[in-house]
Order: sequence, then structure tokens, then C-alpha cells
Amino acid sequence: MQFTHEREFTYSRAYRGPVRCVIFDWAGTTMDFGCMAPAVVFCKVFEKAGVPISLEEARIPMGAHKKVHIGLICEIPSVRRRWVDKHGNEPTQADVDRMFADFVPMQEACLSDYSQLIPGTLEVLAECRKRGYKIGSTSGYLPGMLAINQADAKRQGYVPDATFGAGDVPRGRPFAHMVLRNIIELDVSPVQSVVKVDDTLTGIEEGLNAGCWAIGLAISGNEVGVPLDEWNAFSDEVKQKHRDRIYPTMYQRGAHYVIDSIADLIPCLDDIEVRLKRGEKP
Ligand SMILES: [Mg+2]
Repeated sequence: MQFTHEREFTYSRAYRGPVRCVIFDWAGTTMDFGCMAPAVVFCKVFEKAGVPISLEEARIPMGAHKKVHIGLICEIPSVRRRWVDKHGNEPTQADVDRMFADFVPMQEACLSDYSQLIPGTLEVLAECRKRGYKIGSTSGYLPGMLAINQADAKRQGYVPDATFGAGDVPRGRPFAHMVLRNIIELDVSPVQSVVKVDDTLTGIEEGLNAGCWAIGLAISGNEVGVPLDEWNAFSDEVKQKHRDRIYPTMYQRGAHYVIDSIADLIPCLDDIEVRLKRGEKP
């Protein structure tokens, strides 16, 4: 018997090099434990529009461009119903535009109140630097907001090599655009050498859509949605209940790894290095 190579085999290649770049989200990932700043302001904006929302409702679309986020809150059935009860009609694009105009200055005014780095961030960053990884970052925030975050982070010793926000690309999360802009800016190749770290489901998808490894942070961000001191005060039982709910959700969204917070990141990066050496792809 004779094999006819062209017809009976296909050939594929595998990247076996090292991790070259880690791209971090901002709120709930490297700073603002609980991702409090945007959630609080979304509540204020809807209250001003006459339709108060709960923190839970405010958090559902977290990670998206902030204007898209406001539109998505308007689509939540419970919010829509209350909006119609209050105003007699469904929320329109003009309503979304007006609320977004309110949102921007309100968010900028309070961002620095929530900009403390999440425990472990500086240590993990130092290890990444030691390994020669480039550090990128993405955010659903707009340029003015990101400038505030960047200045506050710098003061605390965190300066990523690149930062792109939802205002810098045609489409925010879950699209891959912000991650890809980091990759181009940082001159990194291939995408399999890049790891995306995020506290939201849409931020996990952003990394996967770019063809990268994606790591979900279950506890430090939007999914639990409480500040660090409140989290620390929870009983072990309550903490475990949160983990039991969030870990499977993030895995089902496609995360390669799920961990509590950035403080636990290094063992995941070690494992990705091993998997790449074996020729595995994200
Ligand atoms: Mg976040």
C-alpha cells in the first residue's frame, strides 16, 4: 500500500516558545477591588433619570464600553418595565446618550476614590518583568477615565507598557480589538504567546476572541462585587458559595484558568509555559 501524502495527510505547526505578554484589565483586576467605581456611578445615573436600579442590575453588562453598558442596562427586562412605568415609553437612544453624558463627569469625579491597587498586583508585575513579559492593558473606560487610573496606578508603582480603552477602538469587549492593539503596539507575536487576565465574562471572551489564553478572576472584581474589607469579613462558607457560583460560570465562558485574584496568577503562567512547550494552543 502506498500513501499519497497530499491527499491523506494534513500538516499543522505548533508554537513552542515562551509566554511573551500578559494583558491586564483595569478595574477589578489590578485596581478597585470589587469593581466598585463604575457600578456606583451607573446607579447614580439611572437614579437621576428617574429609574433607580440595583447594584446587581448595574453590574450585569460590566466590561463593555460605558455607553454600550448603559444601553444594555436599559435592555434588562426589569429595568425596562420600571422605565415604562415611570416615563410611559421605552428608553430611546436619546435617553442612553443623555445618561452617558451624565455618566462621564460623574465617573471621572469619583474614580480616584476607588483606585487602590489590588493586593498582589505589584509582586506579580515584578515577577512578570523578571521573566521578560511585556505588560499590556485594556479597559471599558474611556480615555479621560483611563488617564486618571493610569496616574493613580503610577503613583502606586504600576506602569503597563501599553493601554487601550474602549474609546480607542471601533468596538469594545467582547470584540478582540483592544487586545490586538496592545499586541501590535508591543510588537508581540504570535497571539498564542499572549495571556489576557480579566474579572468579567466579556473580558474573558475578549481574550479568547483574540486567540489568546484567558484567565478569569472570580473574587476581586465584578462577579462578587464587594470591596476588599467586606470580602475579608465574609465567613468561609459565604466565600465558598461565591466560588461555587462563579468558577463554573467563568470556565463555561471558556476561561483556561479561573483564580480568586491577580495574587494567584503566577502558577497559571507557569502552567501555560509548560503547555506551550508541549505544543498546546489556547
Ligand atoms: Mg474589570
